[in-house]
Amino acid sequence: MKKISKLLIGTNNKGKYKEIKDLLPKHIKTYSTKEFKLKSPKEDGLTFKENSIIKSKYFSKKTNLICLADDSGLEIDLLNKAPGIYSARWGGKNGDFKKAINRVYRNLFRIDKNWQSKKIKARFICALSIYNLDKKIASVQGKVEGFISNEPKGNNGFGYDPIFLPKNKKETFGEMKSLEKYKIDHRFDAFKKIKKFL
Ligand code: IMP
Repeated sequence: MKKISKLLIGTNNKGKYKEIKDLLPKHIKTYSTKEFKLKSPKEDGLTFKENSIIKSKYFSKKTNLICLADDSGLEIDLLNKAPGIYSARWGGKNGDFKKAINRVYRNLFRIDKNWQSKKIKARFICALSIYNLDKKIASVQGKVEGFISNEPKGNNGFGYDPIFLPKNKKETFGEMKSLEKYKIDHRFDAFKKIKKFL
């Protein structure tokens, strides 16, 4: 693949947009889906990888630009890996993450009343795909392992950040400064793998 000079960041999520933009080499001119007033496509893939390809292909075709898109979410082992690819949808139409977090806690209580005294394993997953104009697709996946915190903590970040305690850390993603989170998270892990295509 040729080196990329222009790239559309294929997300309508502000938190993700900022993080992805910060990770990209400065010589790449970036575009956002907002500039093109594009709505997100229907994500009907069955995996993070499939959904990230659906998004990068859709946005690339609409704009004629090479597009980097991600699909990400939280897997909780005790919930059979839910919310998984449905992570955004658990926040409802308005993306209300208090609602999504309450649903996580409700489900944990339903399965085990004493879950708070146990270590509830979870991980964030991020699939990144680049859809090239020559129709070649690069796709990778990254992750960060951790646990569900007994209560939401911190106001930084977005989504499920306040309830995710990364392994070997004392603060949730919601308590960490964004730069600290970016160095260890699933998107960075995926980014390291896709860098060679940029
Ligand atoms: P999608 O990839 O846009 O379908 O949505 C992914 C969803 O997963 C987001 O809306 C968040 O709920 C959640 N998510 C993904 N990455 C993160 C993260 O870094 N922090 C918190 N929540 C995340």
